[in-house]
Parts: sequence; C-alpha cells; structure tokens
Amino acid sequence: MPELPEVETIARDLRALVVGRTITGVRTDWPRMVAYPDLADFVAGLHGRRVADVWRRAKWLLLDLDGGGVLAIQVRMTGQLFVVPAERPADRHVHLVIDLDDGRQLRLRDMRKFARVGLYRRDALGRVVSERRGPDGIDGSVDLFARHGPEPLAPDFTLAQFRERLHARRGRLKSLLLDQSFLAGVGNIYADEALWRARLHPLRTVARLRPGDEARLYGALREVLAEAVARRASSIDDYTAPSGDGEMQGYLRAYQRTGLPCLRCGRPMRRITVGQRGTHFCSWCQRLPAADRTGVAGLLALARGNAGEAVRRGPRWSELPGEGALGLTPSEAAMAAARARTGTRAVGGKTGTEALRALASAARTRRAAATRRRAARDGAGA
Ligand SMILES: [Zn+2]
Repeated sequence: MPELPEVETIARDLRALVVGRTITGVRTDWPRMVAYPDLADFVAGLHGRRVADVWRRAKWLLLDLDGGGVLAIQVRMTGQLFVVPAERPADRHVHLVIDLDDGRQLRLRDMRKFARVGLYRRDALGRVVSERRGPDGIDGSVDLFARHGPEPLAPDFTLAQFRERLHARRGRLKSLLLDQSFLAGVGNIYADEALWRARLHPLRTVARLRPGDEARLYGALREVLAEAVARRASSIDDYTAPSGDGEMQGYLRAYQRTGLPCLRCGRPMRRITVGQRGTHFCSWCQRLPAADRTGVAGLLALARGNAGEAVRRGPRWSELPGEGALGLTPSEAAMAAARARTGTRAVGGKTGTEALRALASAARTRRAAATRRRAARDGAGA
C-alpha cells in the first residue's frame, strides 16, 4: 500500500513528465473510479486545462490545473501511473486515460480497481475543496483533507507540535501512527520502521512515553520517511512510479522480516497483528514495559509462537551465512560483509536453516512482485 514516500515519488516523477501539458481528452471504462463530481463534470472540467504543478498531500496525488481545478488521484492498493506515447497499446487494466497535447497519455492502471480520482478546486486559502456532494456525502464546500493530520516531513512540523499531538491522544503507538488524523501519510511499512529505529514497542501506550521516547520517535519517523523518499520508496508489491521502481525495499529493517535476525541485536524479529495489520518488531530492542502489557497478553503470546521454530531455534546474526545467501537486502549483505571482514565465520548449519528458509521465501515473493511490476509497465505501454 503506497504511503507518503511512494506517493511523493510518483508526484515527483509526474511533475517532470506532465507539468506544462494541456489535457485534450479523458476516458474511463470504470466510471466508479471517479469519486467526485460525476463523470460528465469530471471529464468536462479537465478538458482543455493545462497542468500547472504536481504535488502530494497525505497519500493523494494532486495536479493543479490552470483555472483553479485540482485533479486528485488516490492510487490506493494497486494503482499505477504511467506517461506513455498514445499509440502504444494498453492492457485491460488501464482504466483511466488522460490525453496530453504532446501526443502522450497519462494512464492509470489498476488490477483491483481500488484507485479513485476526483476533480476539486483550490479555495482562497489554498485548500483542496469540493463544492457539492463529496465522497463522504457532505454538501457544501468540503476540505478534502479536513480530517488529516499534519505532514510529518513539513519543515515547520516540530518536535513540540508532535508532542502536543501525542499528548492529546490515547492508545498504542502502532494504531496511532496508522491514524491519518494523527499524522498524514504514514502506513504500515514506515510505522514499523520508525518504531524499530526508535526502539519503541508497537504496543507501547502513548500515556507512558517519556520525553526521550517521544523525541526518538519524532526523529525516527522523519528520518525513515526522508530516506524512503530519497530512495524512491519501497517497491515490495505493486508499487512502482512512472519513472521506475523504488529501492527502499532493500533498506527496510523491520517490515516483513519475521523470523529473521534483528539487524541490531540478532534475535529473531516477531510479528503480531494490530488492527488487522501485520506488525513487525524486535521484542528485545523494543521492550514493552510491564505497565503496558495489560490487555495484550494474548497478542504477545501469539508473537512468541508465530515465527514457529525460528523463534526458539533462530540463529543469531553471526550464525547466518555470509556471502551468496539468497535474498539478502543490501543492508543485510553489508552486515554480512562486515562480519566476514572481522573474521567471524558464517555457519550455514541447522540453526541457520529457518532463517535461510525465511530469506528464500521472502526473495521468491519479491521476485514474483517484480515480475508483476514489469508486466504492469508493459501492460500500460510504458
Ligand atoms: Zn533487536
């Protein structure tokens, strides 16, 4: 699911490809994709408009049009955007085509049809608003982002503001980070990554955080999001950007590393489900204070068992094979190389088997996704 860095990368790619172009036609074979206004007004409102800028707010792509219109695109789970010459064939998963005046098309491809688009306008305050019935069924001028929290990477989003927002909330960290009204744009991947970096258990309660915890979380969130933007985000499943895949997937330290050694302490990473989302963490580096365990004993017991044998017999990092192991991410490979340099012998024996199996399985899954993304690029005519 694309989060802030993924959508930001798409926006940056699009900016280079479509700013200055004028829209000469709009077609869709999936009218339900148009969330606002109705299809006829959407098509008429885009026609003849020049794209003045492309930006992002939360997980939305926003194309400012001359005359005050804003084309909003929410790619959601599997939406992909490409800008390609009009004569290239497109497969049946391309559901929205926007013709540009230079003979190219902006194509929205979505295998699962979850993506949504809308045509809004900027009001006097610069907000993106709908005028009539919006996606939520509210009449009148509605701020599309009224219920979204601040942008975590905004230069003016300070630690003091972060603290103030935290102190106004209750609940546990993972759920809070996923709440778009708390912060905009953070999703499952970067919530897990930020919590791992900040050494905070996903089930820590907000009320029991100390000032140092809050500062580490603020710093970790901003760091991991900025790094992900710089690396063009994480191409794990279907996410790809108009100008190519991201590479942050190779630098994730917590997300989807269940059973693999923690890159800090070597103990197996664990997985629990919080609010139906898989949550990855190290129970050693990210301790849960006794006071925060009330009500989550069952979840934690599951975490102890869910990596199966890998949890009980999992290898320390030093026991992982060094070179040539399948599916090592660049950061894992770097650590393995560092081990090799300091003379630690890698052992590929019984204790490493489970971790190796997990690595191989993760590598297979990611190869399949990469194949799917290549097919998507072909299918969209890119
Ligand atoms: Zn650890």
